[in-house]
Amino acid sequence: MLSCREASRLVSEGLDHNLPWAQRLSLRLHLMMCRGCSRFRRQIEGLDRFVRRHPDLPERIEPEATLPAEARERIKAAARHTDR
Ligand SMILES: [Zn+2]
Repeated sequence: MLSCREASRLVSEGLDHNLPWAQRLSLRLHLMMCRGCSRFRRQIEGLDRFVRRHPDLPERIEPEATLPAEARERIKAAARHTDR
């Protein structure tokens, strides 16, 4: 039986390359029994699909680039406040 830590590692690795069948099988068994990990897998897969649908996304999404200017200003002001 896989631990949740192993299962989530396999889920993230499974995006990049195919797992050996034995690992895939035990992962599948774990996901059938573990609600937390199957939710995690759905999130990862959703994220993966999103990135595939938007191939022009920058590799690392800067949170500032996606925020409206007004929110950006608020963050900058808060940073100035704490950055001493
Ligand atoms: Zn689990």
